[in-house]
Amino acid sequence: MTASPDFPVHLIRADLRAFAGYSSARTSHAGPAARIWLNANEAAEPNRADTHGTARRYPSPQPQALRQAFADYLGVDAAGLLLARGSDEAIDTLVRTVCGPGGEEGVVLCPPTFGMYAVSATVHGVPVHEVSQVDTGHRFDHDLGRVSETVRRTGARVVFLASPGNPTGSTVPREDLDQLLGDLAGRAVVVLDEAYAEFARPAPTSPGAPAAGSGAVPSAADLSRHPHLAVLRTMSKAHGLAGARVGALVAHPELVDVLRRVQAPYPLATPAVDLALAALTHQALRDTAARVQSTKRRRDRLADVLSRHPDVSTVYDSEANFVLVRCSGPDAVLNRLREAGIAVRDMRHLPGLADALRVSVGTGEEIEFLAEALSPVSGARGRTLTDHPSPPALTEESPP
Ligand SMILES: *Cc1c(COP(=O)(O)O)cnc(C)c1O
Repeated sequence: MTASPDFPVHLIRADLRAFAGYSSARTSHAGPAARIWLNANEAAEPNRADTHGTARRYPSPQPQALRQAFADYLGVDAAGLLLARGSDEAIDTLVRTVCGPGGEEGVVLCPPTFGMYAVSATVHGVPVHEVSQVDTGHRFDHDLGRVSETVRRTGARVVFLASPGNPTGSTVPREDLDQLLGDLAGRAVVVLDEAYAEFARPAPTSPGAPAAGSGAVPSAADLSRHPHLAVLRTMSKAHGLAGARVGALVAHPELVDVLRRVQAPYPLATPAVDLALAALTHQALRDTAARVQSTKRRRDRLADVLSRHPDVSTVYDSEANFVLVRCSGPDAVLNRLREAGIAVRDMRHLPGLADALRVSVGTGEEIEFLAEALSPVSGARGRTLTDHPSPPALTEESPP
């Protein structure tokens, strides 16, 4: 076995390389485990609302059981996995760790893309360099040659790629990614945001297998071959836990070590950790794999419904749990949906998407409501969705 290459330490802010971070009661206790914990000013008795008494203590900054369960799910080494309060926190921590505040070394991103990359860079006061994706009419392609050239020209330290992308639903081809990683070795951290990986091809062959639906994940071998690669995953999409705010960054263990020192002292709330652990059990992963499969079938139905509408001019291929469309009359479509009580995401503020909407894949019933709201006949009848959306149809979504 060949030793994996070291992390290119010069990519970490010089002033943070030896930074110890906050020393919490949790992390500063040395020696054998105590029997009586009087070091964190926690309450001596639980709150009545805390029925299981699990929230009285500060949580572990990186709960080992969840770290291991998430790493097992992804088929990677836990030492290279950082848990975060959603991938949003991981994005922010990474930008702050790699780019000097207010400095010239910024980030490269590829619009149209997820808004948080630019938000984190802007709040941190570093430049955002944009390399637009190429619209082929049915998908968006990254121009990775220009990304590489932009890093070389500007000295940008972080490149953000989302695959499948939001709001495009397009993936970055494996060979292109390999080429970029080769070009940027030692120059920039390449972040591959795989928030929607479970929905991407190839479909999982055995539901509930350790890396369920994660066919797009670079393997542990990729990660050790490319020490400047960081992969983001989240519990917010396929796993149905957006409210729990749990995500992970997978990267070289040396980078992960620095990131955890920069990160907030207790990023994950105990109830969120418990939920995420429960969602990574074998049975829950089987359910998730089945939900992913039915979501992909409903995505086809949604795309079909949308493509039949006369005001919809383009329906992009999607490998995620949403569909991006262009409309000849976006206002008419939006109004129609609004009147029916259906919210979709208006994308018209994004460059190159002046006529675009993004529609998430809802339940079968919600998609039929949308179909009806958009159909000229029943739309005219003015039927509205008066009830709250129905809860997930468990019979449909549970595994056989
Ligand atoms: C939804 C989404 C995320 C998820 O962020 P969380 O903070 O984990 O909820 C990350 N990246 C992209 C591209 C997304 O669309």
